[in-house]
Amino acid sequence: MADEADFPSIFRIHNETLNIWTHLIGFFIFLSLTIYTAMKVPKVVDLQALQQISDALKKADLKKLQSEILTCLPSLPNMPDLNKLREELKTSIPLMDLVPSLSSWHVMEHLHNCLPEIFAAGNHIDAQVLQGMKEPITRRPFFTFLGGAMFCLFASSTYHLLSCHSERLSYIMLRLDYAGIAALIATSFYPPVYYSFMCDPFFCNVYLGSTTVLRIATILFSLLPMFQSPKFRKIRASFFFGMGMSGVAPIIHKLILFWQQPEALHTTLYEILMGVLYGVGALVYAARVPERWMPGKFDIAGHSHQLFHILVVAGAFTHYQAGLVYLKWRDQNGC
Ligand SMILES: [Zn+2]
Repeated sequence: MADEADFPSIFRIHNETLNIWTHLIGFFIFLSLTIYTAMKVPKVVDLQALQQISDALKKADLKKLQSEILTCLPSLPNMPDLNKLREELKTSIPLMDLVPSLSSWHVMEHLHNCLPEIFAAGNHIDAQVLQGMKEPITRRPFFTFLGGAMFCLFASSTYHLLSCHSERLSYIMLRLDYAGIAALIATSFYPPVYYSFMCDPFFCNVYLGSTTVLRIATILFSLLPMFQSPKFRKIRASFFFGMGMSGVAPIIHKLILFWQQPEALHTTLYEILMGVLYGVGALVYAARVPERWMPGKFDIAGHSHQLFHILVVAGAFTHYQAGLVYLKWRDQNGC
């Protein structure tokens, strides 16, 4: 027990030290992944979209298209690459050499924003070009998951840091810790369900709706005082485990619908690995392994709770990898 004045206990070695740090480091890993995803992933993806545009341009009426693009460009904001791009378009479209000449993602983004307006107004450009100008696939479900992961990891490390300071604070923080786990599991459903069923609004809504209702109920339940008592330890673990298992239905459904798609198999393998990591985490947590075999030997390091923390971070990271595969799949193929 430490008193209120002992705040920097984060830097002292005690039985909560590794519990704090495993999830604080996990939080920073996910913060970095979120920043990386926001900055880097659209670039990779939209270069692929550009490839689609280029393919479509090859089949389009180039003379008409060239004049359309050139009338579109003056309406774009000023940017250093713009004049260069205009010059390049004048010469490169007839040569069908657009992709190697474009290096800037911003230029491409403007081109994306510019051309659909012309299609809406004119409707006289090759339909295949319009096909190539699909709306970029939303990242919202993916960022919702990343937000849930960061909330879980931050709430958990804060709980372990503050729980020893006062009973009142511990009471609040433990609920926040459980709510964090529930939030991580809940938000983990959004990317696989959304990207698997985005082309089938009925199933997409059924899965997303039932997932949301079930998860909110779980989070509210996890805030009840009785949920926290020691005799609920096994029930808590099986509760989180059961919540995770309810994701099996949409995954099997995805495999049936897209069994020919390598991405469907690829993401399922990540999802199985994630299930194993979380499942082992829940078992270790519930069975108090390894300290039940040698009580007192694992208080500082190797305690079941620390293993559980590490397995949670590893499971969430596996899910991030699956999310990248989903994004790539949908960006390339659409529906
Ligand atoms: Zn914990």
